[in-house]
Amino acid sequence: MSTAQADARAYSKPLYPVDYSRLRRNVRGAVRWDDISRALYASSASIVELWPSCVVEPMDADDVVKAMQFAREHGVPITCRGAGSGVAGQSLGQGIIMDFSVHMNRIVEVQPSHGWARVQPGVVKDDFDTELGSFGMFWPPDPSSSPWCTVGAMVSNNSGGAKSIRWGTAKDYLLELDVLLPDGERARLRPLKVANGAIEFPADATAAERRLAEALLKVARDNAKLLKEQRPEATRSSSGYNLFELLHADNSSVDIQAYYPRTEFDAEGGILDLPRLFSGSEGTLGILLEAKLRVLKLPRKQAGLTLYFDSNQAMAEGVVKLLDTRPTKLEVLDRSFIDVAARSDPRLAEGIPDRLQSMLIVEYWADDERDTAKSVDAALELCVKQGPAFDGKAAYDAAELEKAWTVRKVASPILSRVKGDHKPTRWIEDCAVPPWKLPQFIDGFKRICESNGFTAHLFGHGGEGNLHVNPFANCKDPADRERMRKAADEVFELVKGLKGTISGEHGDGLMRTPYLQRMYGEVYPLFEQVKALFDPRFLLNPLNKVPSPESRVPGQPQQTRDTGHGTRDITSFLRVGEDYARQPTGTVLDRPSVLEEIEKCHGCGKCRNYCPLMRVGKEEKYSARAKANLLRGVVAGRLDVDLLLDAEFKANIDLCIACEQCLVECPTQVDIPGISMVFREQFIDRKGKGGMVADLLSKPDKMGKAGQKVAGMANTILRNRFLRGMAQSVTGLDERRKLPEYHKPHGVKRLKPLEVPPELRAKLPTEVVVFPGCYAEYYDPDGEKATLIEILTALGITVHTPALNCCGISKITQGDNRGAKADIQENIDKLLKPVRRGAKIVFSAPSCMLAAAREWTRIHDTGYTHEVAQACVDAHAMLLEVFRQPEMRKQLKPLGKRVAWHLPCHSKVLKIGDAAKALIDLLDEGTTVDLNAGCCGLSGTFGLKTDNFDMSIKIGQPMFTKINLARPDVVTSSCGICQTQIRQGVKTSEDGKDGAQVLHPLRLLYEALK
Ligand SMILES: Cc1cc2nc3c(=O)[nH]c(=O)nc-3n(C[C@H](O)[C@H](O)[C@H](O)COP(=O)(O)OP(=O)(O)OC[C@H]3O[C@@H](n4cnc5c(N)ncnc54)[C@H](O)[C@@H]3O)c2cc1C
Ligand code: SF4
Ligand code: SF4
Repeated sequence: MSTAQADARAYSKPLYPVDYSRLRRNVRGAVRWDDISRALYASSASIVELWPSCVVEPMDADDVVKAMQFAREHGVPITCRGAGSGVAGQSLGQGIIMDFSVHMNRIVEVQPSHGWARVQPGVVKDDFDTELGSFGMFWPPDPSSSPWCTVGAMVSNNSGGAKSIRWGTAKDYLLELDVLLPDGERARLRPLKVANGAIEFPADATAAERRLAEALLKVARDNAKLLKEQRPEATRSSSGYNLFELLHADNSSVDIQAYYPRTEFDAEGGILDLPRLFSGSEGTLGILLEAKLRVLKLPRKQAGLTLYFDSNQAMAEGVVKLLDTRPTKLEVLDRSFIDVAARSDPRLAEGIPDRLQSMLIVEYWADDERDTAKSVDAALELCVKQGPAFDGKAAYDAAELEKAWTVRKVASPILSRVKGDHKPTRWIEDCAVPPWKLPQFIDGFKRICESNGFTAHLFGHGGEGNLHVNPFANCKDPADRERMRKAADEVFELVKGLKGTISGEHGDGLMRTPYLQRMYGEVYPLFEQVKALFDPRFLLNPLNKVPSPESRVPGQPQQTRDTGHGTRDITSFLRVGEDYARQPTGTVLDRPSVLEEIEKCHGCGKCRNYCPLMRVGKEEKYSARAKANLLRGVVAGRLDVDLLLDAEFKANIDLCIACEQCLVECPTQVDIPGISMVFREQFIDRKGKGGMVADLLSKPDKMGKAGQKVAGMANTILRNRFLRGMAQSVTGLDERRKLPEYHKPHGVKRLKPLEVPPELRAKLPTEVVVFPGCYAEYYDPDGEKATLIEILTALGITVHTPALNCCGISKITQGDNRGAKADIQENIDKLLKPVRRGAKIVFSAPSCMLAAAREWTRIHDTGYTHEVAQACVDAHAMLLEVFRQPEMRKQLKPLGKRVAWHLPCHSKVLKIGDAAKALIDLLDEGTTVDLNAGCCGLSGTFGLKTDNFDMSIKIGQPMFTKINLARPDVVTSSCGICQTQIRQGVKTSEDGKDGAQVLHPLRLLYEALK
């Protein structure tokens, strides 16, 4: 092992290698300390990486109590974790990581009439709001990570979001927190009344609650002057401990729905607010087990406007004026953001004058649209008529408002998807200053970036002076790291001078903790007192907020390495920093393009929401980022290279079922299915294909041909559950799975030639090759395949149907590129000639088109493969162009059927789903029900297998439910696999008499032309 390899392995060694088996025996939830599990929790949405020693997924509070007891006995610290979307490294630790998102994610109780709800910490914020929405309520804090971040972590982090200018941050909605303290005591943290200098404890107050409250009241009272003077002027902060609002006046009579007050420190105040202190403590003071949260009535109407400014000074004046109109959102974008968006779509800059330097997007929410319109008019009057904006555009309803956000939505992924090692980087991304000081801050910030050679695009919550700026930096480059440190020093000094905060809402975490002493000066020792009151042994998140004594002194090899420069700073613990070096694996994973792809995942966690497996599996291993994290672990030498041949490791990577949604939804567009396939390629190269069944399943054409020949007998076997049951142990295919039945082609009634106007005919190809795909060929030859040929022929197009091999998608997905290449080559040999004559290759199945148009070129990169790829067209898109012409539309007979449309994942990736939907809409005059239900769950051969059957059905459940609710005559989807899953999950029938028919869209078009 080289020194570099040894260093890399040392980085990932457990710092607390104790015997966790006793903990495993004691708790109901999973306890894991193998390298693979630790790797999944070594990173988060931050740029840092820290390897835990053990991971626990508690089932309930009892498990948490037992794990805390174990931690105390063995001196192992605990770091809590929700979705790991915290961007400052606050969910990373070297001891036990406790993941609350897997099991402790219930909404315990909602009391809409009393305005509160009780939740477990791991509930996802959007799930919480969906439930509250059914009562017409919502929980106001709303980070843009709300589809995947957890409520408990939001409390712990004091998360905000765009709406906090109107409704504050998490700390403003806490009625009672059930917290486990490190010494094993349970405390109910709630706002306590203070009268005549004494705390009025409720009768059920525990000893812990009393002890903490008395001590904290003393800290606040003794330091009242200091806290009042030193409080940051910024209107939001998630930095340090919130001692600044620990004591405040009784504001329980204030109607927070109507008016959000800033809570002022008040030494004589009537409330000792323990939840506010806990909020923002980032898991360093106690473990949240349950929270009672104030919830509000959800306003029904929204309107807004965009305002244009020619300087930051003018923009800041606008912000201050607008505060009086009580906006719900007040967001700022600087000019460079608009320029970036316009590079991808010049229409986005249309109507935006050159003089624009800064733009505000403002929203108002109310119950009555007259109120929202009034607010918009008032804002236009204040900012445009009276200045300082030079122009503005009202958006009186939600649709117009959506357009206003387009620039922001388009620009963010463009910035994230930039190639190369210089990436938008979060390290000084969350400073907040009083809004009226924004011009000084923006000018100073830009100057610092410029002088240190960083480009930056500014956006953020302007109404609260909280800017999110991710300058482009290369963490691998020592010079860049030095410049990052310098820029952080300078920016934080600037913020201090403006009485701002170094974190408006993202938290301090590992990254900003080293700066707290400098930022808070005389207040910092009070933070130490707080930590000592709650967690004197540093058992909770010990590198955060107030770091443990041993982490401050070099001693432990890891900690000296991590502290790097002698003292910790913003570049300590970097994921891809000075300790990072690619280690050759001697496999195809060493290709630079593959390595770049693996390193591209920035860990944001959005895939926890969009990956179909993660949505139902809940455990981190199901997320897309899990695959990137594992592979990065190996290529960086932090995981043993032998794991590339390990069955367990492979099982984890195989949790990518190549639905390809990563290519649509992932902000950095990491090709997770691609890197998973490369992994499988090296696995197969070295270990073989994994048995006869796997081999057979990767050859749907061979199986199809054989099955079709003896269709009668094969279908009898397929229909017989007893026989399927017998086969299950040999094939691994679940006996409950209804497999599609083989059909021999009998031919369909010829269509009469259609009357095609000459100008349309001129646009159509004269000849095409139909690529039917295995499903159409062997299971639906008289449906999908024959009807496509009939329709094209009726349009006067010459149709070729050479005998083609499978597109290879199954082999490619399984990593059998070698096997796929031979099939591809044969297909290309047959396709090239007609393509060179100008013929198009027409696909009715999205997965086959994805293979030919994209995968073939990836694994067989030749000039002629590209020629073929460029000739691929989607049948639906082509026929939509034809039948949307009035002369052609006239020739369609109404179907008179209620049709429900399911979008296959691969259509979404190829962006051809809209065309299919629009084509079906032409047939039933716009009455198609769009199921909009995500992945069907079968995905190739994934859901066929016994091990995956239940999960596959769970993934498909939203689709089944929506179909049952829609009660359609026909369910249609362009993908045979999705059709198979629909037949599995809902009542269907061939003739539509006893359940909906399941048909390919082209079959419907054919019916309309017959
Ligand atoms: C793309 C993106 C956009 C974002 N936008 C916003 C935004 O607009 N506004 C905003 O405020 N933030 C934003 N964030 C930051 C982040 O999403 C929030 O801080 C969020 O609240 C973190 O939730 P999580 O479940 O991922 O928590 P994690 O990152 O897993 O944990 C956050 C903290 O909570 C602690 N914690 C978790 N559970 C418990 C518990 N039971 N007891 C005690 N402590 C606990 C952890 O120890 C950690 O310190 C964004 C992040 C990303 C990646
Ligand atoms: S795979 Fe994409 S969505 Fe998932 S964490 Fe990585 S960057 Fe984010
Ligand atoms: S491609 Fe699909 S299955 Fe694979 S990681 Fe991405 S979302 Fe999950």
